[in-house]
Amino acid sequence: MSTNKIVKCRVCGKPLSLNPETENIEWILRSKGYYYHKGCWDEYMDIYADKTDEEWLDLIFYLITHSLHSTYNFQQIKRQCENMVREGKTMKGIYFACRWIFLIEKKTFEPKYGLGLIPYVYEDACNYWVEQEKKKENLQKQIEMKKKLETAPAEVVIQSKPKKAKKPTAEPVI
Ligand SMILES: [Zn+2]
Repeated sequence: MSTNKIVKCRVCGKPLSLNPETENIEWILRSKGYYYHKGCWDEYMDIYADKTDEEWLDLIFYLITHSLHSTYNFQQIKRQCENMVREGKTMKGIYFACRWIFLIEKKTFEPKYGLGLIPYVYEDACNYWVEQEKKKENLQKQIEMKKKLETAPAEVVIQSKPKKAKKPTAEPVI
């Protein structure tokens, strides 16, 4: 590979010089011919950032090759995803369902079935991620509460003993 080669970043489309002596820009080679600026790549891989359907699909392929170290049939998976979207699922949901079933539940990915399993586990996966979000929110609330308690001046509450009900006396009520 020539070091003077100029390639395009797959995310921003801007030229990227691979010559380390003339360009002081960090870049990433994902696979043959797929180059990225380091910053663009980090953003691209951030699964909590907004993405287009094509980007989610691309991340599904990336998950299969890089996390599951498997091969896949591009046309098959694309078709399966299109069918699921037609049934009302989202590409983002499909991606997160893949993460759950293959990475967390550790189900084996079978290249011949592609994402055939996903429609059957989609709901469970959604529930899992909703739970995770809730836990995160609760944790965040707890942290904020703790911070408040630590920064707020200590309030001393003196609780007086409950007064005993007065016994009726013979004194006249004014
Ligand atoms: Zn870029």
